[in-house]
Amino acid sequence: MTQTSTPAVEKVWTLIQITDTHLMDQPELTFANMNPEQSFLDVVKDIKQRFPQIDAVIHTGDLAQVAAESTYQRYLQFMQDWQVPHYQIPGNHDDNLAIFPFHNNKNEAHAIHFGSWTLILLNSAVKGRVDGWVEQKQLEQLEQLLLEHQQQHVIVACHHHPFAMQSHWIDQHRLKNSEALKDVIARHSNVKMVLFGHVHQDSENEWQGVRYLSTPSTSVQFKPLSENFALDQAQPGYRVLLLKENGEYETYINRVRLTQPKINTEISGY
Ligand SMILES: [Zn+2]
Ligand SMILES: [Zn+2]
Repeated sequence: MTQTSTPAVEKVWTLIQITDTHLMDQPELTFANMNPEQSFLDVVKDIKQRFPQIDAVIHTGDLAQVAAESTYQRYLQFMQDWQVPHYQIPGNHDDNLAIFPFHNNKNEAHAIHFGSWTLILLNSAVKGRVDGWVEQKQLEQLEQLLLEHQQQHVIVACHHHPFAMQSHWIDQHRLKNSEALKDVIARHSNVKMVLFGHVHQDSENEWQGVRYLSTPSTSVQFKPLSENFALDQAQPGYRVLLLKENGEYETYINRVRLTQPKINTEISGY
């Protein structure tokens, strides 16, 4: 075999999206027979095994079931022990922004860079409401960031779903000004995708060349296409994003088999 010079290996950025951990204020508490802390740890264990080298973890909200400082501190401790860069945006359950662990302690649109890729995080949570809204100020900041980073490949993330899931009860809780958000995004051809959580299920839509992707919760799953509230026995999961410098990328969901018993789907509300 002839020796050839090794081509420079192109950097591929590995980002992991986790969402809707719904950690309880006591680690041993369960919901619908599910211990969300244990399932979160099972998901993290799977990520660590499959992806020992990652560039960041993005949490798209509903970090805590009830906003409690001790819950956020436990989460931050897990992440610090993991030693990966981590960014989180609030969900409707994170109803106290004063204690929410924004990575820069600011409730505003902000950009994080990974080589030729830029991730823009938005807060779509509104105090006292289950549905979402991105404030005008943040839409303007988003527009500004997109103008500043026209040469970058962009991912936008928020908690609430800008697309209907065809599930009546979940769609009542969608991002209510999704048209305004989608209009801003549609003006910038470098936006590749919009990531969100909140719907506790995997989904994919496309509009004006932009992919809109949801990701399963690390805890309980909602039954797809259900008219009324219903849980699903689908396993928890996370999203993998493999981003190449030239703008090509791959994204997919991994599901994780849990060490705990099946959830109780007879429960009637969340
Ligand atoms: Zn949730
Ligand atoms: Zn939510």
